[in-house]
Amino acid sequence: MIQKVSAVVVILLILAVLSIPVMAAGGNGGSVGADGAGSGGSAGSEGAGSGGSGGTDNAGSGASGEAGTGATSSTGQAGPQAQTIQEEQVRNQQETVDQPGIQITRQDQDQTQGRTGVDTTEGTTSPDTIRQKDRDTFFQQVSQLEQNLSRDQDRDQAHVDLALSTFAIAGSVTGGAGPELSRLAGEINQSLAAAYQAEQQMSTRSSFMRKLIGGDRDAAGLLIQSADQNQQRIQEMEQLLATCSDCDPQVRVKLEEQVQTLSQEQNRLLTLGQQEQSDRGLFGWLFWGSSTVLAGGGQATPLTDDEKYWMTYMREEEKLARDVYLSLGARWNLPIFTNIAQSEQVHMDSVKTILDRYGIPDPAAGKAQGEFTDPVLQNLHDDLIARGSASPVEALKAGVLVEETDIADLNKALATTEKNDIRTVYNNLLQGSMNHLNAFQSNLASY
Ligand code: MN
Ligand code: MN
Repeated sequence: MIQKVSAVVVILLILAVLSIPVMAAGGNGGSVGADGAGSGGSAGSEGAGSGGSGGTDNAGSGASGEAGTGATSSTGQAGPQAQTIQEEQVRNQQETVDQPGIQITRQDQDQTQGRTGVDTTEGTTSPDTIRQKDRDTFFQQVSQLEQNLSRDQDRDQAHVDLALSTFAIAGSVTGGAGPELSRLAGEINQSLAAAYQAEQQMSTRSSFMRKLIGGDRDAAGLLIQSADQNQQRIQEMEQLLATCSDCDPQVRVKLEEQVQTLSQEQNRLLTLGQQEQSDRGLFGWLFWGSSTVLAGGGQATPLTDDEKYWMTYMREEEKLARDVYLSLGARWNLPIFTNIAQSEQVHMDSVKTILDRYGIPDPAAGKAQGEFTDPVLQNLHDDLIARGSASPVEALKAGVLVEETDIADLNKALATTEKNDIRTVYNNLLQGSMNHLNAFQSNLASY
């Protein structure tokens, strides 16, 4: 105790001399010295604290304001008339462009609106034709966004922007779910803007402060909170996509891929926040206390063998889906396979993120396409390729089988764990598999 108190006195002296504002949130050190430090530092740190919460408040009010507009536009979209749909699309674009975080360039906006104008003048007859046209327009716009992405420098954030922009232009192809999806994407956008600010704050923290008292707890807390809330929004989006009866199956696959990208980013930010929170520096324990309580991920409890087994297995099962679809897509030249293969790549990456977080070796490391560590999956892969090579119909049936197997296994995997971060990944994969199953089945029906 005497040692602790004198250590505190030494630090107080150092800090007083350097007149550095100490950390914000009240130190739970409990000792007299620590209390003194807490109040001494509050003047300097309060600015940072209130700045942070101001950002969160903005996100909240911005979101609710937008929910209103979203609801209004949904009621306006009663009959699927070309004019209304196009207007809705333009309105959605404008709403989203007005939001602070999304970086849709002026050029994109002009291009998409220009194309919309052309569609209106051509005129359309049946609702089916309209749907077809809307889908084509949507995919044209997405590919334009993707071309812009490939020129972008900051790839990580550019992918997130692409995902959010894709939802912004998806209003006319997502039926009744459109306004809700657009609202959720807007909320995620707002929340991410605050999260990126916190990330920036963490990255510019002086190495002196870091060594002395560790990470920036305010910023870390904001990151974790934002990632948790966004994962909930992402789950809502998955649900909407899965239950959207008037959504085009191929559009759904594309959007599901974007949802996975958003989920990946939340995973990255969550991990970052947790790392920052556990960075205690030399003397951080005096202020933060010594117990390791991590919010969000529940990293504190070690994994069971079951949890480890299923995380490892799911990584390779997603690889199986990707590899089978790549092979069969090339064999029959069917775009549905190559599209869904991209989505499976994102699924593989999601599982890799949690494997890494918990320090579990990657079974797919160094494995080429069609190669697996698990002999069961190796056999299944070879069998599916053999069957799917018989005809396009057999290939699509192989796709159905992959997704059905995936859904069954994900449900088993979900039953093994209570950890939120792992469950979120499994649930996202599950929703994805249901979308894929739906896409294969409706494609089969056209044969
Ligand atoms: Mn999958
Ligand atoms: Mn799948």
